[in-house]
Amino acid sequence: MSTSDSLTAALLEQVSGRFEPWMSCDESFERSDGVLGDLLDRGLPLPEAFAAHLAGCGACRDEFETLVELVAADWGLDAAAARAQLDAQLP
Ligand SMILES: [Zn+2]
Repeated sequence: MSTSDSLTAALLEQVSGRFEPWMSCDESFERSDGVLGDLLDRGLPLPEAFAAHLAGCGACRDEFETLVELVAADWGLDAAAARAQLDAQLP
């Protein structure tokens, strides 16, 4: 391993350690479809790490709130009720 490789590895370790157990925005975006299905279809609670990310990240929260309303309307559900169901789980 070259010096720059080991520097990169050390840096990555630092960065990933710093955000634990927080999810990245990319990760939260990747999981949003599945989480949304569980929430609207089965009434399951948001996964803890996902809820924690939305609570701390306004951009992802806005995006997910919009997505919930869109998908709820698309599925013939009450968008306001779906949004309330989400809000109830976020601080
Ligand atoms: Zn985010």
